[in-house]
Amino acid sequence: MNQKLDKVKQNVIKCTKCELAKTRTNSVPGKGDFKSDVIFVGEAPGKNEDKNGEPFVGVAGKKLSAALEEAGMSREKVYITNIVKCRPPKNRVPKTIERETCQDYLKQEIAIIKPKLICILGNTVFNSLLGGSEIMKFRGKIVQKDNQLYFLTIHPAATIYNQKLIEVLNEDIVKLFELIKELKNDKKITIDIEYSS
Ligand code: SF4
Repeated sequence: MNQKLDKVKQNVIKCTKCELAKTRTNSVPGKGDFKSDVIFVGEAPGKNEDKNGEPFVGVAGKKLSAALEEAGMSREKVYITNIVKCRPPKNRVPKTIERETCQDYLKQEIAIIKPKLICILGNTVFNSLLGGSEIMKFRGKIVQKDNQLYFLTIHPAATIYNQKLIEVLNEDIVKLFELIKELKNDKKITIDIEYSS
């Protein structure tokens, strides 16, 4: 574990900066390889994550792991986190104030890992990080904002009740790792959308 990232993790574990600290069982810091080329960012911990203190360990996590395997990538080689690190009661969407209060932790994770791509998982994350909406319309696309590249796809939880979306997620994750390969080989990739802040 990288020392700076461990410090972020310890701060998340003891954090009481927002209301979610009152109802959580455990905070859920990001987890994975600090040398990863990609950070996967989900919305918030769910019931299993809250119980275990680890991100994406429930059914949605299994879907993400399966998609990674499909792309020939092991979960241990990537870094996975959420925009808020504590579970919202009854899995409601995190409030704006909670997202804003928690955002420094994600910024620190990004600054330490310096990923080639940030993979946005679902609409809430799309909205929080880029102000976007309609992830189905934009999934599979590459966004550039402030010299950082983002890749858009659906949240793995969306595939639980809609089997057709498993193919969508798998297809996107395969594309994501193809893009990373191209970036590592210094190939020029096409940016679909450019944002400026
Ligand atoms: S959600 Fe984030 S800001 Fe709120 S208590 Fe948890 S770690 Fe702290």
